[in-house]
Amino acid sequence: MDHGDQPTVALPGEVRMPLLGFGTWQVTGQAGYDAVLNALDAGYRHIDTATMYGNEEEVGRAVAESGLRREDLFITTKLPPDRVGRERETIEASLRALGVDRVDLWLVHWPPSNRADTIPVWREMLAARDEGLTRAVGVSNFSTALIDELIQATEESPAVNQIRWSPSLYDRQRHREHRDRGVVLEGYSPFKTSDLAHPVLARIAAAHGVSPAQVVLRWHVDHEIVVIPKSVTPERIRVNADIFQFSLTAEEMRDIDALGSA
Ligand code: NDP
Repeated sequence: MDHGDQPTVALPGEVRMPLLGFGTWQVTGQAGYDAVLNALDAGYRHIDTATMYGNEEEVGRAVAESGLRREDLFITTKLPPDRVGRERETIEASLRALGVDRVDLWLVHWPPSNRADTIPVWREMLAARDEGLTRAVGVSNFSTALIDELIQATEESPAVNQIRWSPSLYDRQRHREHRDRGVVLEGYSPFKTSDLAHPVLARIAAAHGVSPAQVVLRWHVDHEIVVIPKSVTPERIRVNADIFQFSLTAEEMRDIDALGSA
């Protein structure tokens, strides 16, 4: 897979996941199609959608229209909690809507409300991967304890855990727990949970001639944490992808990490 100059992180099974992705929650209809097409034009090669977002068809149309080769794109979708027992038909519907033979990553969107369903759902995810409907499987909004239950029952770690993450939520211990288990940490809502006017972010942004939003995104990438900013604004879509022309010093990384314990 060629993701151009996008940095990637390795998932099991020779899968490379671009560290920067494009978030699509609350982006539907024509606005969804336009935003995803803009994002692909701006250089994103990783799109984050979900059955629950109701926009897989728009994402699929934008992917087709972009003219990019399927193997150069990384597509994630997610199983909603109310589809327990209907996993197979759910991923088949996702593939139809997206217009692809398989996705790159399929996540359990939230832990099932009935805890007893957790392991059976995980086994269905693994079966879908083994059948080639998705290249990798993972979870979202899972605690470390719940991840350990999956590993104990099946000896298979989720490739990824997608959770809320940002400088102000930085938790070194939780990051380490993921690394120790071979689980890639993927952060969501990087801006909603950030104070983009924070003086530390403003100072570091000024030092590099970039915006605080770009600093937040670059900080994730330098920690090898996947980040999936969402925007429907063409200029922001472009600027959020333009984070590879500068890098943060070790001291700046530490200053941003410290916002998590402020
Ligand atoms: P984000 O943190 O990405 O924030 C999006 C908001 O930030 C929008 O209002 C957007 O405005 C604004 N914004 C975008 N770029 C900039 C910028 N450069 N400067 C200032 N403001 C900016 O929020 P999300 O909650 O959407 O999270 C990102 C993605 O994570 C989602 O789209 C989804 O794919 C995923 N997610 C997953 C969840 C899960 O349970 N697994 C839960 C929540 C999110 P505008 O669009 O108007 O430009």
